[in-house]
Amino acid sequence: MFTFLRRRFGRPDAAFDPHWHDLLTTHFQHWSGLTPAELQRMEHLVAAFVTGTRWEAARGFDLTEDIKVLIAAQASLLLLGLDIDGYEDLTSVIVHPSTVRLRGVHPTGGGVFSSAPRVIAGQAHYQGPVVLSWAAARRGAQYPAAGENVVYHEFAHRLDMLDGVIDGTPPLDDEAALARWAEVCTAAYDSVRADGSPVLRNYAGTNPAEFFAVATEVFFNRPVELEEHEPALYAELRAFYRQDPAVRCAAAGR
Ligand SMILES: [Zn+2]
Repeated sequence: MFTFLRRRFGRPDAAFDPHWHDLLTTHFQHWSGLTPAELQRMEHLVAAFVTGTRWEAARGFDLTEDIKVLIAAQASLLLLGLDIDGYEDLTSVIVHPSTVRLRGVHPTGGGVFSSAPRVIAGQAHYQGPVVLSWAAARRGAQYPAAGENVVYHEFAHRLDMLDGVIDGTPPLDDEAALARWAEVCTAAYDSVRADGSPVLRNYAGTNPAEFFAVATEVFFNRPVELEEHEPALYAELRAFYRQDPAVRCAAAGR
């Protein structure tokens, strides 16, 4: 963390603008559920993210500071309890106004490939940029009950990539934690693939990496339901992120 703080907070312009507090209170539902201590750390993380990130706009898109702040706050929530700079390898955040159209051959499942253009809400590249749809990012910040959040999803992929393997397992403390994580996540992943889930959408069954990204979305957005239906998975995510969003929801009366 200290490298992170030096690297990002060494910038003289990495200050949290008080105006951002109103912006985030209005447009990022999670913001008002944070404790004063959490808010203080989030302010540092958000300021560092906004000023320390290379931002790129899709052609013709007006990428305002408010948009950067709202994306930065969602990405920073994942780092709130961690003592690592999870996004150190991030080269840039590329923001599109609505959906992102991809070209090129891609797998569609079952060994089938297609060259038809794909429309997606976001994408995380290993040691490269994160690509986001602003429409999806804005929706995710404002309406957590829907469960989906493209920023949590893509930045969870970034955390997964930290150990160099994109396999749904972010860096964990030790072998015991790794074994427990593998056991719990494999059981939950197999269950989603076999029977679906009342809280994890079917996309979680695509592969273990997507499982972790989708589970992260639900952990922050529908924590009470996740804890109720998948208590072991919730406990693993709580231990990794060192946050308890279900308690936060209860405190906020949600
Ligand atoms: Zn994904």
